[in-house]
Amino acid sequence: MLAGLETREVSAWFGARKVLERVSLAMPAGEVTALIGPSGCGKSTYLRILNRMHEMVRGAALSGEVLLDGDDVYRPGRRPAEVRRRIGMVFQRPNPFPAMSIKDNVASGLKLAGIKVTRDEREHLVETSLRQAGLWDEVAGRLEAPGGSLSGGQQQRLCIARSLAVSPDILLMDEPCSALDPTSTRRVEETIAELRGQLTIVIVTHNMQQAQRVSQTCAFFLATHDTPGRIVEHGPTEQVFHHPRDQRTSDYVNGRF
Ligand code: ADP
Ligand code: MG
Repeated sequence: MLAGLETREVSAWFGARKVLERVSLAMPAGEVTALIGPSGCGKSTYLRILNRMHEMVRGAALSGEVLLDGDDVYRPGRRPAEVRRRIGMVFQRPNPFPAMSIKDNVASGLKLAGIKVTRDEREHLVETSLRQAGLWDEVAGRLEAPGGSLSGGQQQRLCIARSLAVSPDILLMDEPCSALDPTSTRRVEETIAELRGQLTIVIVTHNMQQAQRVSQTCAFFLATHDTPGRIVEHGPTEQVFHHPRDQRTSDYVNGRF
C-alpha cells in the first residue's frame, strides 16, 4: 500500500529564530510533490522535519504535526530510526561511500535499518534497487567497482538505489540535480517518472522546467527578511504554473524575482 504524507501547521525554529510558519501541506500517495521558492525560505528545513532529521540539528525546535499514512511521526515513543527508514532522503551532492563497492553501497542501508536478509535476497534487492534507480544496465558488469568510480550522475542514481533498498514509503529529494549536467539531470528525471506510482516523492528544485516535468503537486515557499518561510500557494502543478492565484507566485515561476 502506498502511504501519503501530510503536515499540519508545522513551524520551526533555530534557537530563537523562527524559520517556518504554520506549513500545512498534503503530499499525495504515489505522486510527486515539488517544493519551490527562493534560497533561505526553509525548504530543506521542511524536508528534514518530515523524516526527523531536523531534531539532529543543535538548537532546532518545531511544532505541528507530520502525518505518515495518518500517523504522526513525532508521536511519543516512535523511533526516529524507524521514521528515517520509511522516509528516505537524497541530497544535492551525491554522497555514496566512495571506497565501498557499488553493490555494498546499495546494501549499506539494510544493516543500518536492522533489516536481515539472506545472501540471495541481498543480491536480488541490489539488482531491483539499481533497476528502479535506472542504473542497472550501466553497472551490472562492475558491481564490485568502488562507488566513487562512477560519474556524478551515476553516483546520484546510486544514492537513489541505496535509499530504495530499504523499501521506503517516501523519498525526499533535496535539489538532487543541482550538481549534475543536463544529461544526468534528464536521467534522474526519468528515474523519478518511473518511480511515480511506486512510492511518494517530495522534491525540492530551483529548476522551474523540472518542477513542471516531474511533479503533479507544487508548493511555493517564501520568506522575507522579517517573516519566516511559509507556503504562499500550493495546488496542482499545472495550476501553480499557469493559473497562479497569487501575484508573488506568478512573479517567481516566471523568473521575475
Ligand atoms: P532553503 O533550503 O529554502 O534554502 P533552509 O531550510 O536551508 O532554506 O534555511 C531556512 C533558514 O534557516 C535560513 O534562514 C537558514 O539560514 C536557516 N538555517 C538553516 N539551517 C540552519 C542551522 N543549522 N542553524 C541555524 N539556522 C539555519
Ligand atoms: Mg535548501
